[in-house]
Amino acid sequence: MTSIESPLPEKAANFIRNIVTEDLKSGKHRLVVTRFPPEPNGYLHIGHAKSICLNFGLAGDFGGRCHLRFDDTNPAKEEIEYEDSIKENVSWLGFNWGEHLHYASDYFEELYRHAVALIEKGLAYVDSLSAEEIRGLRGTLNEPGQESPHRGRPVEENLELFRGMREGEFPDGAHVLRLKIDMASPNLNLRDPVIYRIKKVEHHRTGAVWCIYPMYDYAHCISDSIEGITHSICTLEFEDHRPLYDWVLDALQLPCHPQQIEFARLNLSYTVMSKRKLLELVQEKLVDGWDDPRMPTLVGLRRRGFTPASIRAFCETIGVGKSDSFIDMGILEDAVREDLNVRAPRAMAVLRPLKVVIEGYPAGETELFDAANHPADPAMGTRQVPFCDTVYIERDDFQEEPAKGFFRLAPGREVRLRYAYIVRCESVLKDADGEIVEIRCSYDPGSRGGSAPDGRKVKGTIHWVSARHAIEAEVRLYDRLFSTPNPGGKNEPDYRSSLNPKSIETLAGCRLEPSLEGAEGESRYQFERLGYFCLDSRDARPGQQVFNRTATLRDSWSEQKR
Ligand code: ATP
Ligand code: MG
Repeated sequence: MTSIESPLPEKAANFIRNIVTEDLKSGKHRLVVTRFPPEPNGYLHIGHAKSICLNFGLAGDFGGRCHLRFDDTNPAKEEIEYEDSIKENVSWLGFNWGEHLHYASDYFEELYRHAVALIEKGLAYVDSLSAEEIRGLRGTLNEPGQESPHRGRPVEENLELFRGMREGEFPDGAHVLRLKIDMASPNLNLRDPVIYRIKKVEHHRTGAVWCIYPMYDYAHCISDSIEGITHSICTLEFEDHRPLYDWVLDALQLPCHPQQIEFARLNLSYTVMSKRKLLELVQEKLVDGWDDPRMPTLVGLRRRGFTPASIRAFCETIGVGKSDSFIDMGILEDAVREDLNVRAPRAMAVLRPLKVVIEGYPAGETELFDAANHPADPAMGTRQVPFCDTVYIERDDFQEEPAKGFFRLAPGREVRLRYAYIVRCESVLKDADGEIVEIRCSYDPGSRGGSAPDGRKVKGTIHWVSARHAIEAEVRLYDRLFSTPNPGGKNEPDYRSSLNPKSIETLAGCRLEPSLEGAEGESRYQFERLGYFCLDSRDARPGQQVFNRTATLRDSWSEQKR
């Protein structure tokens, strides 16, 4: 494969980049420290890639560092499988956390100590109401909440109860620890949020050591502070949580107080990105696993043939803003086209073969034609493509009664076989059902290489493979998983009802030029005139190649709309 890197778009300014630039200029920070904080409860998707590129990208561009921190505060839901896949995805995208692989669970002891400090300051209390009762007293956006009868518990009693919670003296749900902020706050997040709950569940990293676990809002800001994060970048839905983020750090008077900055999450048309929906798609076998090439997961995109560079370029193209919007799937597809156009070697493949016998061509003879691996990049070299008296062409490159504007093969007409000869259709053979089974052509021996000796014009050029030398393969034509831009949105009962019935078409018996026989790993090609294809990393075997279509050559979806 080639090592050509397609150019990344210029790094555009955005409001977060401006804040960082300012903070370095003013001396507020000398080093930028960001983090990507996934919860290991699912596979990463293209939305996460936006956050990864932003956090790692900023740190990289400003000579700082970015941590990978697993937000593993919820013991019931997390799994090692997800952690491994997240690490692999981040590396695959081209980012490196160096020594800074962290886990919120590493801070459990420190988080506990801080909670005790908050109790001692009279800023936290143990509440013994049930979750339902707490919810009942929380109030609404228009009505203030009401204080819990346990809010006035003396510090000593709170300390004793919290210690007992840690020691496992109480069953799940018996008590929680809450911050004492303001039950009348217009911001619901500040109405005495719960910061610890009892959960007698083993944690995949800390085992049975803990039976109380901190809540996200509490653990996240302190984890950021412990790690010396300067800019804590998150999505817009956390804007209302920022006062709580700041409240906790102020209350504890921690020396490092990161700045939380919110940006608009990525929403992509023609797909879904909620973890719940992605999990349902997998569990209900509506797709073939997390790495189904139609999934917006990074493992899916990778198997589909997306390159890390194309995903980074996409994230750079869409930019970073403050208002939620939808990005068209076409932009992601364009990003991979643009990248593969530069780096993918060309090859010839016939997906729906039609046999063409070339009359007059010496039987048993093989000729080798030089074919450029890339039309615009001689450094990618050439390969030899064998030719013999029988070739396969694409079924739809022949029309018995050619439509207006059809310049390919038809009875009595000439067409150029790319790199080889000009051929003329002399006869058509059909089976008992009237199905065309074979085309007979004559050829112009003087047109070797493709140009007619007398300079006559031949409009059409088509691709082909030699029947005797071709390898057989399976090719999977993937298309968008959903056929509406906002699956499950307005006027759609459920996102499942918008699944695109044509999102996969599996073609067996495709014929590929023999140079593809040895393709390995994640080899990507442009199959001439057809699109970009990637070897299927899971199902391809030596002698039994399987290719996935990454993208068509052009955006057929926007053409449909026109
Ligand atoms: P959950 O609802 O389970 O929290 P999540 O998608 O937020 O789901 P996380 O593992 O918490 O999953 O996400 C890790 C990081 O990725 C967070 O900082 C989150 O803000 C960011 N992120 C998640 N989805 C998107 C998205 N669509 N666009 C941009 N960033 C995202
Ligand atoms: Mg989250």
